[in-house]
Amino acid sequence: MLIKVYVQSAQGNPLDPTTPARGRLLVKKGGAKVVARLPFSIRLRDREMGYTTQVTLGVDSGYSKVGFSAVAEKEELLTGELVLRNDMSKKLEQRRNYRRNRRSRNTRYRAPRFDNRKREQGWLAPSLRHKKQAHITLIDTIKTLVPVSRTELEVATFDTQLLQNPEISGVEYQQGTLQGYHIREYLLEKWGRKCVYCGKTGVPLQVEHIIPRSRGGSDRVLNLTLSCERCNQHKGDRTATEFGHPEIHRQAKASLKSAAFMNLVRWQLVDQLECNHTYGYLTKQRRLEVGLAKSHPNDAFIIAGGRQQTRCRPFMVMQPRRNNRSIQMNRKGYGRSIRTQRYALQPHDLISYEGQRCQVKGIFNRGRWVRLKTPTGATVNTQVKHVKLVRYGSGLQFNCPY
Ligand SMILES: [Zn+2]
Repeated sequence: MLIKVYVQSAQGNPLDPTTPARGRLLVKKGGAKVVARLPFSIRLRDREMGYTTQVTLGVDSGYSKVGFSAVAEKEELLTGELVLRNDMSKKLEQRRNYRRNRRSRNTRYRAPRFDNRKREQGWLAPSLRHKKQAHITLIDTIKTLVPVSRTELEVATFDTQLLQNPEISGVEYQQGTLQGYHIREYLLEKWGRKCVYCGKTGVPLQVEHIIPRSRGGSDRVLNLTLSCERCNQHKGDRTATEFGHPEIHRQAKASLKSAAFMNLVRWQLVDQLECNHTYGYLTKQRRLEVGLAKSHPNDAFIIAGGRQQTRCRPFMVMQPRRNNRSIQMNRKGYGRSIRTQRYALQPHDLISYEGQRCQVKGIFNRGRWVRLKTPTGATVNTQVKHVKLVRYGSGLQFNCPY
């Protein structure tokens, strides 16, 4: 797997990445300076222009993880996955409780507030807004590292517009292999990737007729579900109700809603970022052709149009949250005077300690002591005055999962 050094022109525009050896030589001779360590980036001192090739960025947008891959003609330049936060609503709930508590602590009665909390058009729940914003931040960051000329985003597993509401229009699943593939993906999404009769997951699933063909059941999507081979055989020519599952009939009528919101967000992204879009079923098909295992970086590689290119070492990108609370320092003998103070360091911050780059794990003893992790993985406790802040641990953090 390749390791790349990301290069910027003297103005800070992204150029073609180079090899670690060439990057090292450039820095040694004074032709470039180091601007970031992760991902390792250098800025040229003398040249304003440099080589850039056509680079396609593929983004496999997901609910919990986002895969990305920047692919050039002969090799992959940058890849990895971004881990999205899934604690948004929990954190907001917590903040709300703290505030509620704080307000009622000193105000026994507060007049009811005027009803002025209206939701604007295009309002998204905070958890979804985070997911959308994280995609934008990620793509913008990647564009500062590699000269991206085209962006491809996967918007949904299947093309709802192509399918034109399969529940109503009655597309039949045997219209060619692609169509079959397409509807299979739809059914997988709808029925939750498991056998609807016994609930087994991780087994090959067969497209199954709720009312059997032999009993006048149609090939329409509405009459289709997924089951394991055993249940399918066992059910034989009985309907789902006769087989002891009347709820399947009801569920079949309800159309798919689970992924709807995330799909909405993805479409908004396509509009906002003005990028191209593709569908999951196409990605899956191409990935199997190339013979890659399922993973977010692999999917992104395929979305970017990757085929035989040399792969890159993937990054694990995190979005740590910098705790912004201040502590109150009550000093005895000073009456009601309260001093508030913010901790100078917070978890995930990058610091230098005895010439080493370390990560802050925690702060204690009223912000005077810090617990840190050295590059070798050892945990050290030391006083804050012995360390120096290098970089705040907020925003996107590129890590190498060794
Ligand atoms: Zn089964």
